[in-house]
Amino acid sequence: MGKFCKKIKENSIGYFIINFNAIKDEKLSKHNSIRVGGNADYYVEPQTIKEFVDIIKYCKNNNIKYFILGNGTKVVFADNGFRGVVICTKKLNKIVQKKEIICAMCGVNLFALNRYLIENSLSGLEFSFGIPGTMGGAIYMNAGAYGDEIGNYVKKIQIFDGEKIKIIKGKNLTFSYRQSVVKEKGYIVLKVWLKLKNGDKNQIEKKCNEYFSKRKIAQPLETFNFGSTFKKTNGIIAGKIIDNLGLKGVTINGAQVSTLHGNFIVNKNNATMQDIKDLIALIKMKVYESCGVMLDEEVILIGDD
Ligand SMILES: Cc1cc2nc3c(=O)[nH]c(=O)nc-3n(C[C@H](O)[C@H](O)[C@H](O)COP(=O)(O)OP(=O)(O)OC[C@H]3O[C@@H](n4cnc5c(N)ncnc54)[C@H](O)[C@@H]3O)c2cc1C
Repeated sequence: MGKFCKKIKENSIGYFIINFNAIKDEKLSKHNSIRVGGNADYYVEPQTIKEFVDIIKYCKNNNIKYFILGNGTKVVFADNGFRGVVICTKKLNKIVQKKEIICAMCGVNLFALNRYLIENSLSGLEFSFGIPGTMGGAIYMNAGAYGDEIGNYVKKIQIFDGEKIKIIKGKNLTFSYRQSVVKEKGYIVLKVWLKLKNGDKNQIEKKCNEYFSKRKIAQPLETFNFGSTFKKTNGIIAGKIIDNLGLKGVTINGAQVSTLHGNFIVNKNNATMQDIKDLIALIKMKVYESCGVMLDEEVILIGDD
């Protein structure tokens, strides 16, 4: 960093930009799968876990608002952006294996992890092939599909609780449907240890491809989206009821209920967060009027409030 950096006060924003390679006024629509959002004041991609923790500490010590971003496949950013620092984990992407235990950093992409598991004949996570998020996002959301979920394979995780780095054992993570202790307590996931099983490489790959083929048929993968909009609520499968109500294809400005899958909203034409919010409100009202159930959002809306 040299003499220049040392001259800058450690609590100054100049120090932050130079020391952590932060980008000023970064367009957030480049960093989520629905391609919606204004600018973040600062955007940073830490290269190491230590740097990740240092950035969070810096933000906390200087009262700067921050948001942890994985691959942005479950979040929509406000049209006026984010007043603070968006910290994206995608460069924290190392995988280490010890027999049937995998240690993945929080930024490891589930596609990359599954490719690694196929290559190394490890079975268990095939259901997740096609979930486009990172390990951190998957743990936060307890990502799941086809009757299985990531929580079933977690041996332990390393987290930062804002003050200390800690290990939490799998049995203490209290995973449930799209819920985890990480989400409840606002922990930051640094590393995840998964317990998998040795299997047959060809069988694992076949299973992954089968799951992905199902997705390609059922989901609008060619259009920008954030996966399911709503959770299963009171046992009601949101996509089915939205479909039955004839809401597929309903459009508000640039946002549309996918014509393929009722629980997906797609960015049809320069959608804004407001368009998405309005469409969500319309769907919730129609569903409530028809069956008295208030749907609960799975998508995470990051506003500037
Ligand atoms: C086409 C498509 C299909 C999908 N299918 C599925 C599916 O079948 N099942 C499913 O469960 N989901 C699915 N999703 C949603 C999404 O991919 C998952 O929820 C995924 O786990 C989110 O990971 P992410 O890295 O993109 O998280 P982001 O969208 O970046 O963030 C989501 C939340 O996780 C938090 N977070 C991210 N990293 C960390 C960290 N290191 N520590 C603490 N918090 C963190 C963020 O702050 C945010 O609150 C799908 C999405 C798309 C676009």
